[in-house]
Amino acid sequence: MKKVLILEDEVNIRSFVVINLKRAGYDAIEAGTGMEALEKLQRYPDIGVAILDVMLPDIDGFEVCRRIRATSKQIGIIMLTARTQEMDKVTGLMTGADDYVTKPFSPAELTARIDALYRRIGGGMDTELISQGPFLMNTRNHTLDKSGNRIRLTQVEYSILKLFMQNPSRALSREDILSAVWGRDYEGELKIVDVNIRRLRIKIEDDATNPTYITTVWGFGYKWGT
Ligand code: CA
Repeated sequence: MKKVLILEDEVNIRSFVVINLKRAGYDAIEAGTGMEALEKLQRYPDIGVAILDVMLPDIDGFEVCRRIRATSKQIGIIMLTARTQEMDKVTGLMTGADDYVTKPFSPAELTARIDALYRRIGGGMDTELISQGPFLMNTRNHTLDKSGNRIRLTQVEYSILKLFMQNPSRALSREDILSAVWGRDYEGELKIVDVNIRRLRIKIEDDATNPTYITTVWGFGYKWGT
């Protein structure tokens, strides 16, 4: 489900937005302060659009916007501004917001803006999907689905699998995998690669004792597919 963050300290307005987001088919994540919003964005990296109120008790909406943009260019940002904040509008747009909605707003207007932003972001997101056999990897959200079911991976497992899926049918040595995933300066043993491959096979193979996706290249390393 598409996630939308709503940052607004006024509970009535926030509840009103949440109800309308849910009605429009979105999963609403709520925050009452700027810091809470930043925490929620870390906790839910698949939030596609954030709606930020400007007037807040702690850091204001523009500062939240700046902090989000410092780490993410992808997420869509809509500012909620009051009619008297004409200058703020301009500033808000210049600090990285994609759009703004002036209070009071109709729910239809807000959801139309969110839909439009999601369409725009969605276009970019499609190119970040790697699809192979029953697997669908989303490199934006770092998720993997097999036949439509989410498979939970650690970041290391995810990185290994991404390397495989980006290099189908190519034999990769343990050294290749180690330096791509752990970095060239990693001092640990090559065995860590095998340990993670074993765990990955249990998670993604139909039969981990007879792997068909991550296959062994004897005396060398591993390969995605046969
Ligand atoms: Ca407010």
